[in-house]
Amino acid sequence: MNLKSWFCFSVMIIAFLTMNAQPKVIAHRGYWKCEGSAQNSLAALQKSSELKVWGSEFDVLMTVDGKLVVNHDDCIDGYRIETTKYEKIKDKKLKNGETLPLLEQYLTAGKKCPDLILVLEIKPHKNKRHEAKAVERIVRMVQDMRMEEQVHYISFSLDACKELVKLVPHAEIAYLEGDLSPKEIKKLGMTGIDYHYKIIDKHPEWVQEAHDLGMTVNVWTVNGTDDLKRMIRFGVDFVTTDNPAVALQLADSDI
Ligand code: MG
Repeated sequence: MNLKSWFCFSVMIIAFLTMNAQPKVIAHRGYWKCEGSAQNSLAALQKSSELKVWGSEFDVLMTVDGKLVVNHDDCIDGYRIETTKYEKIKDKKLKNGETLPLLEQYLTAGKKCPDLILVLEIKPHKNKRHEAKAVERIVRMVQDMRMEEQVHYISFSLDACKELVKLVPHAEIAYLEGDLSPKEIKKLGMTGIDYHYKIIDKHPEWVQEAHDLGMTVNVWTVNGTDDLKRMIRFGVDFVTTDNPAVALQLADSDI
């Protein structure tokens, strides 16, 4: 193949790959809008795997005595998790009847679904020293369980993200708040932005900026069909959604 044919061939391949660049689907708090499931439950994780989404997202907080639990809200039945002992909340039930999961249980279940990426959100803690300790314990647990490749990290807390960069500089780490450009995020050592889709509506140029910097773009929480289609057209890499079954169909179709 001479140089000219090689160049034409390369252009065709790039065009083909670009045309077919479909976003990967992440189930927000697992796949919970189905029978027997609930947000952040072990069932939601299992059902994400059965649905064959790329990733399953979940939220992690640390109790005052250092137990890592999977829960979205910083309070459970009136108990603020970061200032409460695990003993006080360990029997709390999720909407599907499951007991509040520990991170260790969640990771153990996730390890049995090796094709599923676990998108671990570290929730902001009011006490920043406690938050730094939480980050350290989470990272250590993931390492001890040899799940570094399967776990990606996200957080609204810039402090938690910076701590992650220090502890696991080669991990996938994305920031959620939406107030920094991809260039600023790159400078801080993170690998991606994970912003509300309305931020990307305001800054569609950030998709290209991130890609030019070798970073990924994830958007949350994209539930409406029109919003999903628009984000897919923008060329985002991931969509995080409460409707993963719909998103999978859209991501596979020509829109
Ligand atoms: Mg979350």
